[in-house]
Amino acid sequence: MRRLLGGVDSARVELRVGAKLVHRVRSAMSPSADVKICKHCFTSIDARARKCPACHSLLGTRAFWAPVIVLLLFGAMLLMMVGAARLVELSRRRSTANHSSDVTIIESNLHLAPQSSYRSAGEKTIHPMMVGWVRNDGLRQLGNVYLEGRIFNDKGDLIDVIQGYASSSLKPGEKCAFKITGDEILRPESDYAKHTVVVTNALEQ
Ligand SMILES: [Zn+2]
Repeated sequence: MRRLLGGVDSARVELRVGAKLVHRVRSAMSPSADVKICKHCFTSIDARARKCPACHSLLGTRAFWAPVIVLLLFGAMLLMMVGAARLVELSRRRSTANHSSDVTIIESNLHLAPQSSYRSAGEKTIHPMMVGWVRNDGLRQLGNVYLEGRIFNDKGDLIDVIQGYASSSLKPGEKCAFKITGDEILRPESDYAKHTVVVTNALEQ
């Protein structure tokens, strides 16, 4: 009888142990609200864990941040590309914009330098030349300052054009002397009645 009872007892103990085991296995298999399964090592861990205590993998945070970081990087890259394109456009515009209206012709004198023609005796060729001063009245430093001298007869017809270089670098407020010379031409000196000088080109430096 004792043996029998003892057998029953041991059977109960075994049952209790079995129930505990089943409970343990169940709680490990199906995560409750407080427990989750690490997707890297499949250990049952606290649901609030951001880092798996078993395999030290980061949980959840990476999945959230990865697309945000990618998006931010993409946005930054886009901004940089737009910025670079804008800079290129600005520098292109800056280097090609003509600021000739900033340059003032302060003074210009026409010299004809007539000389005996070697082509026909008794005739004189004209070698027109203009000298004077230009000044940068703008706020930008200018370079590639080119001038065009236009010469008219007394009827106002354009009879000759002289083109030339005035300055490679002209600071705001700075003035410089220029001299531009034309081609030798067989024409009466009296034709050279009037002249003007215009600035055709001045680029920002
Ligand atoms: Zn893990």
